[in-house]
Amino acid sequence: MRQTILYGPRDIRFEERTEPVIVAPTDAIIRLSATCVCGSDLWPYRGLNDVKEPMAMGHEYCGIVEEVGSAVTSVRPGQFVVGSFCLSDNTCPHCKFGFQSSCEKREFMTGAQAPLARVPLADGSLVATAEIPPEDLIPSLLAVSDVFGTGWYAADAARVQPGSTVVVVGDGAVGLMGVLSAKQMGAGRIIAMSRHKTRQDLALEFGATDIVTERGDAGVAQIKQMTGGVGADSVLECVGMKESMFQALDCTRPGGSIGYVGVPHGVEFDGEMLFFAQKNMMGGPAPVRRFLPDLMNLVLQRKINPGKVFDLKLPIADVAEGYRAMDERRAIKALLQP
Ligand SMILES: [Zn+2]
Repeated sequence: MRQTILYGPRDIRFEERTEPVIVAPTDAIIRLSATCVCGSDLWPYRGLNDVKEPMAMGHEYCGIVEEVGSAVTSVRPGQFVVGSFCLSDNTCPHCKFGFQSSCEKREFMTGAQAPLARVPLADGSLVATAEIPPEDLIPSLLAVSDVFGTGWYAADAARVQPGSTVVVVGDGAVGLMGVLSAKQMGAGRIIAMSRHKTRQDLALEFGATDIVTERGDAGVAQIKQMTGGVGADSVLECVGMKESMFQALDCTRPGGSIGYVGVPHGVEFDGEMLFFAQKNMMGGPAPVRRFLPDLMNLVLQRKINPGKVFDLKLPIADVAEGYRAMDERRAIKALLQP
């Protein structure tokens, strides 16, 4: 089969590799129904993370189980499954506490931008549907695997409640999914910070009530002015840069909460500043497995449509164009069809 390999900055190839096989008895092999390019794939693509050797790309996935290892009991060949990008056993103390993304056996999914992929820790990572879902729900089910699961975690970590005032920093795919999540959780006001018309439109469609185009101190001033000088109850930080992180902190009211899911790059905090700020901060890689059953049900019941975040659909052989389009911000998120 052919699969997606990153060789170095902006060097994505779709090339012949051997098909994955069961390595550990806890593995499953799945045939991908769809996969996609993640914003985090752009870090090594842009050369911001070192690529020491060719990397098999792709960690967002759903599809049909082809084969399972001898120890796998919860899924079987022929079932449609969605899995978390963080692989977990779902039985250790951290998993039981709802933090499967800190599982004692944690691994990160790779190699999913391909027709077939090996999923380690299949019992703990995969959730099967009762029936094969209709084709039109595949993009939304795929979104649960990471981008929507991560947006949901941002809202959960920011303690969004019915009636909350929420600010979403970042208008990438995760930020937009954060808007949808806050809406689903009953937020009263959702302010999306975005400068791009197509992303603003999608944010409004997903439930944003206001758009703020200013950034940095001007953006914070705007949020303060909109909230009577108070700040927001919950802020979702979905970028991971210094400016966005401080924008998120400064938009939050004392006692309020920040859910930060953008992987921080070059962000440092001063202890005394944090002490006097009095704000809750929770973030990290999303424990998608905690939310997977509920979010899959919301999709299967057609209550939400996170798959709308995919504004570019390509045959997987054109994966390099998917990376280019996202890198150049011509696309919010590229869906790849094997
Ligand atoms: Zn675990």
